[in-house]
Amino acid sequence: MTSTDRSAALFDRARAVTPGGVNSPVRAFRGVGGTPRFIASAQGPWLTDVDGNRYVDLLCSWGPMILGHAHPDVLAAVGEAASRGFSFGTPSENEVALAEEIVARVEPLEQVRLVSSGTEATMSALRLARGVTGRSVVVKFAGCYHGHVDALLAHAGSGVATFALPDSAGVPASAAGETIVLPYNDLGAVEQVFAERGEEIAAVITEASPGNMGVVPPAPGFTEGLRRVTREHGALLISDEVMTGFRCSAAGWYGHETGDGGAHPGGYPSGAPDLFTFGKVMGGGFPAAAFGGRAEVMAHLAPDGPVYQAGTLSGNPVATAAGLATLRACTPSLYDHLGRVADTISTAASEALTAEGVAHTVQRAASMFSIFFTDGPVRSYADAQQQDTAAFGRFFHAMLDGGVHLPPSAYEAWFVGAAHDEAAVDAVLGALPAAARAAAQP
Ligand SMILES: *Cc1c(COP(=O)(O)O)cnc(C)c1O
Repeated sequence: MTSTDRSAALFDRARAVTPGGVNSPVRAFRGVGGTPRFIASAQGPWLTDVDGNRYVDLLCSWGPMILGHAHPDVLAAVGEAASRGFSFGTPSENEVALAEEIVARVEPLEQVRLVSSGTEATMSALRLARGVTGRSVVVKFAGCYHGHVDALLAHAGSGVATFALPDSAGVPASAAGETIVLPYNDLGAVEQVFAERGEEIAAVITEASPGNMGVVPPAPGFTEGLRRVTREHGALLISDEVMTGFRCSAAGWYGHETGDGGAHPGGYPSGAPDLFTFGKVMGGGFPAAAFGGRAEVMAHLAPDGPVYQAGTLSGNPVATAAGLATLRACTPSLYDHLGRVADTISTAASEALTAEGVAHTVQRAASMFSIFFTDGPVRSYADAQQQDTAAFGRFFHAMLDGGVHLPPSAYEAWFVGAAHDEAAVDAVLGALPAAARAAAQP
């Protein structure tokens, strides 16, 4: 057993001054029990906690750290930018360069607006969709997370086409009441709700390939179907690529599905999503996010149009320098590497669990993967909820004791990065048999 005295002491201090001792709920380990590790430093694929324990990082800050920690190019770019000042509140060159890089990568994008978090990106995209259409209802899918936007915290209510109850206290019924929640991968439910209320619906928002209920890729034709139905009814389609953007390919999930070898080479037959949202990887570990689409849609935003949106730190010169340096290092060979590492780890994990007779399903979306502790396939949130979260908790803690930091929840994707080299992968493989044995225990 590793010592966690210093983490435990910090957690006590934190709980006195911060609700639950954390600044984002899932960090508190409530899904797995035990003491969260307070990380003191990180380098490449390794995390070191305040007690001196080292872990292979399969959390990657929930996605952003695609190059590994303290990557020399990013460190240099951040240092150089910071030496010229931290924030100006005026336009500056890095934000232009980052917007150009994003627009160049994702073919349907003509313009982006930079913001500071994924939540801000989806919130603003939603407001824009409502402003453009003059409608107020939004359709989302159960198990898809789009940040803590009031209207998007709603979960599945009592069935298809029922207005959902708020998922969180403090969300007014008026906000949640404009949200319809449908089961993911159920195009029939989408068609039915549009047949009944199509004229009220401003937008459908979906995770490009969901990763926030574990990894549940869209069934063949699902995204294309959303595009067709929204277009028929004059609603916008918002593809939330905050997690998948620049991770699943150089052009995110969109590039993965529409590139050579994807399901729709050359683009979806009925067109691209109207709006995209980005975050995580594009900030390289700093607060930078974006939403964007065709220029004609984006023209509705202030100062050109009537939809207001703003931010004191939007396009921050240090954050945009980090994002730009990160995206520039996201080359085709990086994506090949991520795919190989994901193959190796997910295959080995599955073999270890099979050897111990633990029911499980590995699901992949490019290099994103997760392991559901249930028989698959998992196509929706209801399917994901069938899993044995206690078995995951035992598995998680055995991995942690074995020097591997997984996401502390059964409902999250595992992330790998450019820095996961042979030593890091071997350390993961070495920890798996004991973790599988732990998962198998009653
Ligand atoms: C993380 C995430 C968000 C929210 O981003 P924050 O930066 O945490 O506000 C939104 N959508 C998706 C798909 C995400 O994974």
